[in-house]
Amino acid sequence: MSGNQEHNDNRYHSSGRQTAVPVSQQTRGFDTKLIHFGGEIDRATGASSVPIYQASTFHQEDILNPPLHDYSRSGNPTRQALEDYIALLEGGTNGFAFASGMAAISTAFFLLSAGEHVIVTEDVYGGTYRLLTTILNRMNIEISFVDMTNLEQVKGALRPNTRAVYMETPSNPTLKITDIHAVTEWAREHHLLTLLDNTFMTPYYQRPIELGVDIVLHSATKFLGGHSDVLAGLAVTRTEQLGKQLKQLQNSFGSVLGPQDCWLLMRGMKTLGARMTHSEKSTAKLAEWLRGRSDIERIYYPGLPEHPGHEVHVNQSTGFGSVISFDVGSGERAKQVLDRVQLPLVAVSLGAVESILSYPPTMSHAAMGAGVRAERGITDGLLRLSVGLEDVEDLIADLEQALDS
Ligand SMILES: *Cc1c(COP(=O)(O)O)cnc(C)c1O
Repeated sequence: MSGNQEHNDNRYHSSGRQTAVPVSQQTRGFDTKLIHFGGEIDRATGASSVPIYQASTFHQEDILNPPLHDYSRSGNPTRQALEDYIALLEGGTNGFAFASGMAAISTAFFLLSAGEHVIVTEDVYGGTYRLLTTILNRMNIEISFVDMTNLEQVKGALRPNTRAVYMETPSNPTLKITDIHAVTEWAREHHLLTLLDNTFMTPYYQRPIELGVDIVLHSATKFLGGHSDVLAGLAVTRTEQLGKQLKQLQNSFGSVLGPQDCWLLMRGMKTLGARMTHSEKSTAKLAEWLRGRSDIERIYYPGLPEHPGHEVHVNQSTGFGSVISFDVGSGERAKQVLDRVQLPLVAVSLGAVESILSYPPTMSHAAMGAGVRAERGITDGLLRLSVGLEDVEDLIADLEQALDS
């Protein structure tokens, strides 16, 4: 039988907008959505992936009836497929793709106006911290950093001009857990906008919109892309109204993701489930192994029952992910491990097919003073490992030789 016969019902030739998500699609299992997200087949030709529309502009046959996309900053069919894909996965109304995670986060913060106040988790991603404390502060946006594991601190930060709450859970690098639903419930009472950086969990394990969050943000550079080969950011809104506002900001700032990178990201996202489950299994084994060693001072992983946020995390997520941090006792020993490991990439970043070992004190958290770092548990002996898809036995053996030599 020719492949064509299966597809002779003209269903790829519908002339309408490709982007509407059929209701049936919303009710399917997550792994099915990852593969059948609406853009998996090119409607015009039946091709098995979304074409890369490498075009900046679109011919207007009839200027009184302009085409759906008229200029690629405002919209591009390849980007649209990705934007609809992430909206489907997060269960939101509108998705947006940006040139990086920071582009997505910066754009979302411009929903705020001068004179407004935002409550932010104190162990927010370093780039977000820099944006808030060196740029948005100049725009007269007020910021309070609080320990979000403690709801009372969040409540205590409320001011008459508070407009938004910004969460990140699990946080980086000590994987602190914020009770998402508790925060959104309180925020709603006070008419506050809620934003959440969902980079570490991805919608595979955590869907913040279902827990009341208004805007979900991603560094898609990490787990969603998954191959350390594309820099990208994504945002999803809970309502059409917020979608309109974010669309206007995306179009105004223009830090959109190019069509080739959109394609590459979709290519990576299709295997999200397989990658997340594999590396999580390995991380659990690795955590157990680390736990059995007497020379590891501390382990930070929400999957361990002794992790202070374990119970809250279990109630709001379906998995623990594959980022684990541990303290090897001193800066000297951390350096030894970083020098001697053979398998992991020693680098900034996480969430890839290859394991990545990073050293927060000189990498992600270098900008933070030593004093603040110490307060946040980012000690000189702290290493952060993003567990990839290698055989876990090999990863353990490699870490063992690096620790023991
Ligand atoms: C990497 C990262 C970002 C920034 O994303 P980029 O794609 O590097 O701009 C934001 N939040 C978290 C949690 C990250 O890990």
